[in-house]
Amino acid sequence: MNERIVEILREEERWTGRFIIFPRRMVAMPEDTSKKQALEKIRERLENCRCCPLCEEATNIVFGEGNPDAEVMFIGEAPGAMEDKTGRPFVGPAGRLLTDIIEKGMGLKREDVYIANIAKCRPPGNRAPFPEEIRQCIGFLEEQIDVIRPKVIIALGKIAAQTLLDTDASITALRGNFHEYRGIKVMPTFHPSYLLHNQAKKRDVWEDIKKVMQYLDIPLPK
Ligand code: SF4
Repeated sequence: MNERIVEILREEERWTGRFIIFPRRMVAMPEDTSKKQALEKIRERLENCRCCPLCEEATNIVFGEGNPDAEVMFIGEAPGAMEDKTGRPFVGPAGRLLTDIIEKGMGLKREDVYIANIAKCRPPGNRAPFPEEIRQCIGFLEEQIDVIRPKVIIALGKIAAQTLLDTDASITALRGNFHEYRGIKVMPTFHPSYLLHNQAKKRDVWEDIKKVMQYLDIPLPK
C-alpha cells in the first residue's frame, strides 16, 4: 500500500471518526525512509491543518519533539501558552518538571525520549480539548506512535490516558498499572501541571516512573 493511499485513509479516519486498523507494514514508510523523514512528512501535512476550530487562535502547531527511536514516549493533553508561543511541547513550568522527571529521575536526557500531545493546537484559556477536537487531531498522534513504536507510552494526565485507552475511568484509577495501546505498554500518571499544585502527588508519579524504569531495565537510583 503506497504512502498516498495511507494518507487518504488517515484523512478518512479523521473525518469519519472510524478507526482504521493499519497493519504494521502498511503504516511503516518505505524501507529506505527513516523514521525521522516519516515524522517530517506527518509534520508537513499538519502544517496547514484547519480540521478543527483550535487552529483559529493558535500561534503555532506543536507537533512534538525528541528521538524518533525513543523507547519512551510522553504524551500530554495539549499545548499551553509557552508551547503555543514556541511551537515546542512541555517548555513551561510543567515542562521543566517533566524534564526533571526524565533527567533527574530516570537518568535519561530529554532528547532520548519523544514528547507529544493529544491535540496539536492550544485550546483557548488552557481548557481541555473537546472530544470533537480530539477526534479530529488524534490521527496525527497515532501516526507518530506508529512511526516511533516506543516500548512504553507514559500518558500524562486524564485526557491523554482516557483518549489512548478509550475509557472514562479516572486518572487516579488508571495510574500505577500498565495498560496497553496497540500492543504498546501504557503507564498513565498525573500531569506535571497537576503536580505543580499538588506536590504530595509527586510520590505517586515517582512510583509510576519506577515501574516504567524496571520494565525497561533502567537502573533505579540508589
Ligand atoms: S488541533 Fe489538531 S486537528 Fe485541530 S487544527 Fe490543530 S492540528 Fe488540526
